[in-house]
Amino acid sequence: MANVTLDEVTKIFEDESGEIVAVDDVNIDIKDGEFLVLVGPSGCGKSTTLRMVAGLEKPTRGTISVDGEAVTHLSPQERNVAMVFQSYALYPHMTVRGNMSFGLEEATDLSDEEIHTRVEDAATMLGIDDLLDRKPDELSGGQQQRVALGRAIVREPDAFLLDEPLANLDAKLRSEMRTELQHLQEDLDTTTIYVTHDQTEAMTMSDRIAVLNDGKLQQIGTPLECYHRPNNQFVAGFIGEPSMNFLPVTLEDGRLVGEHFEYPLREETRANLGDQTDLVLGIRPEDIEILDAASGDHEFPGIVDVVEPMGNENTVHVAFEGQDRTESELTATISGMRNVEGAESIGVGIPENAIHIFDGETGESLHNRDLGDVEGDRPLRGAEAA
Ligand code: ATP
Repeated sequence: MANVTLDEVTKIFEDESGEIVAVDDVNIDIKDGEFLVLVGPSGCGKSTTLRMVAGLEKPTRGTISVDGEAVTHLSPQERNVAMVFQSYALYPHMTVRGNMSFGLEEATDLSDEEIHTRVEDAATMLGIDDLLDRKPDELSGGQQQRVALGRAIVREPDAFLLDEPLANLDAKLRSEMRTELQHLQEDLDTTTIYVTHDQTEAMTMSDRIAVLNDGKLQQIGTPLECYHRPNNQFVAGFIGEPSMNFLPVTLEDGRLVGEHFEYPLREETRANLGDQTDLVLGIRPEDIEILDAASGDHEFPGIVDVVEPMGNENTVHVAFEGQDRTESELTATISGMRNVEGAESIGVGIPENAIHIFDGETGESLHNRDLGDVEGDRPLRGAEAA
């Protein structure tokens, strides 16, 4: 167990076309035993960040430390971290037992008995103890994934570094493995850095999420902080499925004026906006109200474009009145038991306590939703920090 610190870490690659800043001045402090998920779109620099922690890439600038000791210039073998790759990287000619014990035989002076015990224990923990004599090509993808995890576990490392470990599995198995990995990490209590582009994995598995875009750290926080208190429009749009709705607006006389609507603001909301008048109004799909008709200040006449029934909920695409229906700007999620039809005229409620407002130029969050209304008797843990 260990805490892992990235201090002003930058990685610049050079190729014929010039410099690529893959990771740009990233600071992250991962606590002992913490499950940190590094998430972001393809090319944002998450694998490069993980590979620098593993020692597979050297940072151009900055320091990586494990328990306060700089490891930046140590080789992968000299760092007590274990990496699991998306491709599993198993040796095809070796059995499961061979794959799991090989690293210990080569790189440690553990006795054969100790190695045997570690392999047996890890295999039992992962439910692959009956597969120890098989070769990788005799295993399913999920079983191969477990072997790759087992090989990391037997090393008893200071930290696990997992790079998209579930990406090659089908949706059902991925969801099962998400839960299994969480239990495993809790049991082992080993610091874990987990890379994924999948915001569902980030939300469901992590103690904290670090969101990267274009090599830059956008936010680091609990899943609920990132969801309810996004630092900027990028995080707000990346975390959450379906994504938050964004409506470009200008601030005029205390109202947000969009192409098809005007939205009056309370003074407390207005006070958060400073002098910026070029803004973006954000609202999550589950916070939009689908009404029979519009009546209040924050309700607008609309027309349903299409409804996607999911069973448990319906995703409803809605256009504002006066807009071509097929240019629907809003996505709302409502109960699957509610019947709404395409082309139906409805009211759309955008409650002010649920709105986010972003700077239209920088994307910075100027105002985030109230949480008072969702706290109820039991405070919403993990989202309190502003
Ligand atoms: P993905 O999810 O697609 O794997 P990622 O977020 O993990 O993406 P990285 O693989 O870290 O992103 O890449 C970040 C940037 O650095 C990309 O623009 C990529 O093309 C570039 N890059 C990565 N490795 C190299 C390399 N060895 N040489 C040159 N450029 C590289």
